[in-house]
Amino acid sequence: MTARVVVVGGGLAGLTAACELADRGLAVTLVEARARLGGVTFSFSRGDLVVDNGQHVLLRCYTAYLDFLRRLGVAHHIEMQPRMTIPVQGADGRLGSLSRTALPAPLHLLGSLATYKLLSPVDRVRAAWAVPAMRRLDPDDPRLDEQSLGDWLRAHGQNDNTISALWNLITVAALNCDADEASLALAAKVFRTGLLDRSENCDIGVPAVPLSELHGEPALAYLRAHGAQVRLHAAVKEIRRADNGFEVVTGEDTLAADAVVVATSADAAARLLPDTVTDDLGHSPIFNVHVIFPRRVTDLPFLAVVGSPVQWAFDRTSVSGLTQGQYLAVSVSAASEWIDLPVARLRELFLPEIARVLPGAAGQVPTDFFVTKERTATFRQQPGSGRRRAAQRTGTPGLVLAGAWTATGWPDTMEGAVRSGQNAARLLSEQLPATVSEVAR
Ligand SMILES: Cc1cc2nc3c(=O)[nH]c(=O)nc-3n(C[C@H](O)[C@H](O)[C@H](O)COP(=O)(O)OP(=O)(O)OC[C@H]3O[C@@H](n4cnc5c(N)ncnc54)[C@H](O)[C@@H]3O)c2cc1C
Repeated sequence: MTARVVVVGGGLAGLTAACELADRGLAVTLVEARARLGGVTFSFSRGDLVVDNGQHVLLRCYTAYLDFLRRLGVAHHIEMQPRMTIPVQGADGRLGSLSRTALPAPLHLLGSLATYKLLSPVDRVRAAWAVPAMRRLDPDDPRLDEQSLGDWLRAHGQNDNTISALWNLITVAALNCDADEASLALAAKVFRTGLLDRSENCDIGVPAVPLSELHGEPALAYLRAHGAQVRLHAAVKEIRRADNGFEVVTGEDTLAADAVVVATSADAAARLLPDTVTDDLGHSPIFNVHVIFPRRVTDLPFLAVVGSPVQWAFDRTSVSGLTQGQYLAVSVSAASEWIDLPVARLRELFLPEIARVLPGAAGQVPTDFFVTKERTATFRQQPGSGRRRAAQRTGTPGLVLAGAWTATGWPDTMEGAVRSGQNAARLLSEQLPATVSEVAR
């Protein structure tokens, strides 16, 4: 008998689990509340433009995510830097750069750090001094989850300048909170895996197509081609134990299943499985400011900015299909301070800032300006969050959790989501023979 698996939630975690399980020959039904797949990675049309809900980037160390894209046949849509280079603009207009050489880690960053214009020579030495200590941290040590990165950095000789011009540049983008708020365990994972353990891990990849073309649409085609059922517009209301497995109740009908993967957000999982999941992780918002300029503003594919609300700016012109002028998306993480401001106020704040850091924008009247807000973009990756992330294995055989918020050891990222989906599929594969033979009895 072929085991029937219902996967609840069609974000990257659920898509990965569903693809893996379908490949293993199981009868998979993926149930997604929204009208499309991809979860918090999606695109929409605005006139002739295709817009992403929020700029996403990856690192070469996202090995599971890149494997997932290869499985879907879309990995060639990632523009991966041959070697990491991040142009960084200071508040005073100084342009620096963080880049790597071909030397083995951690020497690959030393040259760049030694000439990093946003820090004084003394602060460059200060920053380099903390690197060996960071490399010795074990992200799996539970004691690290009780400390903040900021406290650790100050105890290791860092000052406000090194934290804001260097450490926070990475921390805010990767953990969606600043060093003072960030869990040292997750920060150690980011800095070690992403930057310090292997030289090529830090190369940055940027999607060359809209997110829906990269994730949701090819995953739908893949699942259908591999025999899986996909139900869109179908919010799961309840998951019940039944004599022979589970019943998954949607607004329209009830699906019988031998096993269930719950791959929703943490709050939805807590509603569906109140005895299994407690959602006390909290959230941190991200928003994107989208501006269309009549003429080109910059030739850079992206730019990081220190000391400005313009944290990262990306050229979205060709991805969006814009044929004239330039489309810039400014991505703002750890955005609690701004997320409730109306668009008109964000326009007043951001347009002068963009013109200040990118002088090519000065004097141009944008032809369009809009904002996409994701209030619950990631969980709050603060001290103590590690012990609050739910284990993927539940106490009920045949029921597993997935999602970037579960205990993957990775931050709330596309890589964490995909790893959780892979792990959910593996756990179920281990559990299913017993579950299905019980059904057969
Ligand atoms: C603006 C923004 C920028 C980001 N930038 C980056 C980045 O640059 N790099 C990076 O690696 N990561 C980034 N992330 C994080 C990354 O997108 C997430 O970690 C990842 O996509 C989460 O995937 P997921 O499958 O765990 O969850 P989700 O994408 O939240 O998927 C959960 C799915 O479950 C569905 N669902 C919920 N309840 C039900 C129900 N009852 N029944 C059926 N379906 C249900 C939801 O509709 C959703 O589709 C960013 C996130 C945002 C929002």
